Amino acid sequence: MDLKQQIKILVKLQALDSQIYELNAERKKVPEELNLLKQEYKEREEKVKQTEQKLKNRQLEIKKMEGDLKSKEETIKKHNVQLYQVKTNKEYSSLEAEIKNLKADVSLLEEKIIGLLDEVEEINKTFLQQKEDLNKEREKLRQEEELAERRCQEIDEKIKELNKKKEPFVARIEPSLLSQYERILVKKGGKAMSAVKDGACGECRFMLTPQVIEEIKMGEELIFCNSCSRILYETSVETDV
Ligand SMILES: [Zn+2]
Repeated sequence: MDLKQQIKILVKLQALDSQIYELNAERKKVPEELNLLKQEYKEREEKVKQTEQKLKNRQLEIKKMEGDLKSKEETIKKHNVQLYQVKTNKEYSSLEAEIKNLKADVSLLEEKIIGLLDEVEEINKTFLQQKEDLNKEREKLRQEEELAERRCQEIDEKIKELNKKKEPFVARIEPSLLSQYERILVKKGGKAMSAVKDGACGECRFMLTPQVIEEIKMGEELIFCNSCSRILYETSVETDV
């Protein structure tokens, strides 16, 4: 088979390989996109944990204040009893002052506790909302994972089909030419063949001399683009195979 015929087949092969390269690129993107979603989910989960921790901390603070409050109230009770047992005026007034201080502490603590209880209620609302959102998000993520898996399977199937379609073309190309084509294919991002367009390489736009264009038309030897090293061909071969 002459070179012209071989190039025609390579052009057919290139069309299939281009599709395979695109599919492979998409195949690679699928897990990347999924990882982004997983990352987002993790961040949300972290936020919920933080809110829960904040809630627990506030509740602990309240418990501690309630303990303080109780012990201060007990002290006040004790002091009230002691008031009847003191012997001197001085002792009496110092005890009275202490009771007054304790009472001030108690009302301050009560105020703080009320404030914290309000805060706890707010945080709890946020926490419940975040938890609900997180559950929805988890369900969404699960669906996305299923979709991604299905998409990968679809892509694998298509690639398999395309590889099958390649077989008759591959069988008709001379092994040395085929390996040359495949080397360029790998090096040049899935594009080894370049059609001449408006007197230039169709892939890299490098201007070709009239002599080179003539050589391509003659098809007696392989002509490579001087700039991108792809195999150049005449667009007419795309239609007349
Ligand atoms: Zn080029």
